[in-house]
Amino acid sequence: RRKWKRVVGVLRELEEACETPVGRLRQVVDAMAVEMHAGLASEGGSKLKMLLTFVDHLPTGSEIGTYYALDLGGTNFRILRVQLGGRRSSILSQDVEQRPIPQHLMTSTSEDLFDFIASTLKQFVEKEENGSEPSSVRARELGFTFSFPVKQLSIHSGILIKWTKGFAIEDMVGKEVVGLLEAALVRSGLDMRVAVLVNDTVGTLALGHYDDADTVAAVIIGTGTNACYLERADAIIKCQGLLITSGCMAVNMEWGNFWSSHLPRTSYDIDLDLESPNPNDQGFEKMISGMYLGDIVRRVILRMSQESDIFGPVSSRLSIPFILQAPLLAAMHEDDSPELKEVDKILKETLEISEVSLKVRKLVVRICDVVTRRAARLAAAGIVGILKKIGRDGSGGVAGGRSRSDSKMRRTVVAIEGGLYTRYMMFREYLHEALHEILGEDVAQHVILKVTEDGSGIGGALLAAANSSSS
Ligand code: ADP
Repeated sequence: RRKWKRVVGVLRELEEACETPVGRLRQVVDAMAVEMHAGLASEGGSKLKMLLTFVDHLPTGSEIGTYYALDLGGTNFRILRVQLGGRRSSILSQDVEQRPIPQHLMTSTSEDLFDFIASTLKQFVEKEENGSEPSSVRARELGFTFSFPVKQLSIHSGILIKWTKGFAIEDMVGKEVVGLLEAALVRSGLDMRVAVLVNDTVGTLALGHYDDADTVAAVIIGTGTNACYLERADAIIKCQGLLITSGCMAVNMEWGNFWSSHLPRTSYDIDLDLESPNPNDQGFEKMISGMYLGDIVRRVILRMSQESDIFGPVSSRLSIPFILQAPLLAAMHEDDSPELKEVDKILKETLEISEVSLKVRKLVVRICDVVTRRAARLAAAGIVGILKKIGRDGSGGVAGGRSRSDSKMRRTVVAIEGGLYTRYMMFREYLHEALHEILGEDVAQHVILKVTEDGSGIGGALLAAANSSSS
């Protein structure tokens, strides 16, 4: 019985350390807005990189014609061909091909990688165009969604800062990536121009804006997390003098790296960070995104198991990093069977913990709840931080002119994507709940989170269209 008391102590400690009352969330909101300012003021002024995208106009619906997109950002790459009808939300057809990147190409040379991509692209184009009218006088245009850290030089060029996600093609770091792709297109004999280079959040923003003109920001919460939004050109102090015709530019926040002393941090977060390949990096992401949530829960269960015998002998599985993935966490959290059968099954099959009582299974659900709720509420605070920065949080006075709140609060849409948000109902509900708590009902009713699908692919094609040489 003393053992159980120890476990309850560990749980209470976790609950306290993860607490996110609305006052604390508001501090996170403020910190986010402040860091955004700092990141826009100077290069390296904040942990938020606030990368310029050079995207100064988003698709409006008037785009017409056929455009291609290449989406490279993980283990697969995808090629799309999208036909646009010239009205908002009028995608007439789209064809997609997805291919895994052969393992050896991820660590080979840029020439090998891009030759492979170019030849796949060429086959795709020939297959799609076969039988149809010979393509018009206009050259084919491509949107290139490249979701790695890039220092953008213009809307259609940028330098690879570093590789992530298992890629390690050394000769490419520090190089301009569009030039490398275009050289490979020439070698393959494919006549195609790269109209834009963007990252996936910008693609999501573009697709959101194409569907709904009130879209001002985009957030991705999947394996990782990131956000971008539309900023006034004159607020981007670090690039004053840049010619921006529309007066706005999409800014890629790289918000996964946000940090603030107001974030509720536990000893599990600290250990997870220390043992990660990138300590001190991506602090916000490590508390929020799908890659990490399960691992925080694993660490709590491990600690409880070490301090008591409620889980039986300590399972060696509990020491395997990332063994508990977000979908399993969600399945346990959302188990609504009276006996918690799903929890029992996952404990057995994944963690090799068997024969635990219902009381212990309930405890596991509680841990999932605490960790996921904190994540969702912090993500909500991040979103409100963006709204605050652009004067859409109803507080008024921030962005010139809009003084009093609800009557003048404009409809504000945030495009959102990512498996954690779209497939984990409890996460989504907690996020919405926190958004309403922070903003208050009067303002929250004007803020709409809208799920887009495949912004990284379709959004790339839309941006190619919006920035076409013929438009
Ligand atoms: P990406 O890997 O590009 O972020 P997604 O946006 O599809 O791709 O997100 C996938 C991630 O979403 C997974 O790594 C996982 O963390 C999370 N996820 C997927 N399905 C679920 C689910 N059913 N419950 C909870 N999280 C999920």
